[in-house]
Amino acid sequence: MDHTMLINGEWVAAAGEATMPVVSPFDRSLLGTVPRSTREDVRRAIDAAREAFDHGPWPRLPPRARSDVFLKAAQLLQERLATVAELESRNQGKTIKQAADADLPFCIDNLNFYAGAGRTLEARSPAEFTGDGTTIFRREPVGVVASIAPWNYPIMMAIWKIAPALVVGNTVVLKPASYTPLTSLELGRVFQDAGLPAGALNIVTGPGAEVGDELSRHPKVDMVSLTGDTATGRKIMEAASRTVKRVQLELGGKAPFVVFADADLGAAVEGALVGGFVNGGQDCTAATRLIVHESVRARFVERLLERIRTVRIGDPLSRSTDLGPLVSPVQQRTVLDFVEKGTQEGAKLRTGGTDAHEQFPNGAFVVPTVFDAVTPDMTIAQREIFGPVLDVIAFSTFDEAIEIANGVDYGLAGSVWTNDVRTAVKAAHALRFGDVWVNDHLPLGSETPHGGFKQSGFGKDLGTDSLADYTVVKNIYIDLTGQSRKGWHYTVYGDPA
Ligand code: NAD
Repeated sequence: MDHTMLINGEWVAAAGEATMPVVSPFDRSLLGTVPRSTREDVRRAIDAAREAFDHGPWPRLPPRARSDVFLKAAQLLQERLATVAELESRNQGKTIKQAADADLPFCIDNLNFYAGAGRTLEARSPAEFTGDGTTIFRREPVGVVASIAPWNYPIMMAIWKIAPALVVGNTVVLKPASYTPLTSLELGRVFQDAGLPAGALNIVTGPGAEVGDELSRHPKVDMVSLTGDTATGRKIMEAASRTVKRVQLELGGKAPFVVFADADLGAAVEGALVGGFVNGGQDCTAATRLIVHESVRARFVERLLERIRTVRIGDPLSRSTDLGPLVSPVQQRTVLDFVEKGTQEGAKLRTGGTDAHEQFPNGAFVVPTVFDAVTPDMTIAQREIFGPVLDVIAFSTFDEAIEIANGVDYGLAGSVWTNDVRTAVKAAHALRFGDVWVNDHLPLGSETPHGGFKQSGFGKDLGTDSLADYTVVKNIYIDLTGQSRKGWHYTVYGDPA
């Protein structure tokens, strides 16, 4: 199927009719094509969003009316859940049980949450701060927001970007990742069918270096919001700096998973398995660094390997598959290169480290992989791998555990495993990560602010904190004296009255 993209309420091709293929990572079959936009197409979308912001109804609607559109969108996505989940699984390679039972229900909850949250904006009380006039604070939308999304959770990341932006009255140009545009286009239909006015949400497909770059530097865009790699975040900050745009960045991660000696080892093993292999390890919060006390490390690793033997890899559309292919052969190559690097640097490969070529010759698989005897300075312990690869690092003291955990450029998420409440609280405080879990890894709710420290970016997705990122406070001063010459004017010229 040849898909079109959404500009100013219409489904259109790219100006030159150029397209790009969308391919299944499981069997390389062609799932369809999407427009391959040029900078000219992006400018059309930006113009539409600008017009919709400056003169259109969306920013001027009462919050209740925008909320109604969101409630309708949530309902429509619920009705289309099975179709959209299947499309997500086919396109991204994630398992159908994750897409249908976790990602999509969460997406629907996100929309319902923002339908309510968008009605709760508050500002400080107006008052006579100078004594002579009243100051009113207004919280207003920022303007035209460019939302740039990654390929790991295509529809969910698109919603985390666009929902808080739209619900407070911004207008948006969304760019999905080139590998995974299909469910974002479905999301466009959902919003259109829910009654979102033309131009409020535009979706352009095409390569990041051209489409994303144009969005990041165009003077009519007020804000750029990215979920993606840290290197992409740097480029966007640089491009956006020319017109001093507001920037919000949700970037990479390298989550520590700290297992203290007193932890419930069975729970920690289950946690590592799901925390590490969720979405094939292509998760910015994935538990990739298993930092385990030396007294329990050997037992922990043996139990982990035992459980990994039961992980079923295969067709993502089968309900009994636990691990699908990675998103693309390129990502597969990247992950296998990291595995090679780990071996070269002296880490001990305990299982995995290969593709599944014999079983699935066309699938971008990497089988579940565990490295033991990893040291904190190794490449696999420092860089984001974004695949099903777990590193086990041993520690002996609390301080050493924290130093290893914090010893990366990233600061997105991490977890602590212990039955001692003081250890849990002290570790949670000491970890420089935006999400810290105790005796679990991954859970987030629509209400939970999620975002990184350090080079994992700044700003928040989810929760009401995200609304602050997409709004700007204006103060309006109203003179109450009615005097032409105010008491303070003499400080500029003349004498006191
Ligand atoms: P990516 O940075 O390669 O791509 C993200 C988006 O940016 C894509 O739409 C891409 O086309 C676009 N892009 C690429 N170059 C660009 C440029 N020069 N200017 C503007 N846009 C450009 O990331 P990815 O590989 O799609 O996704 C994986 C990354 O996303 C990982 O690093 C992961 O940790 C991160 N991630 C972070 C979070 C979070 O909440 N912090 C969530 C999910 C994913």
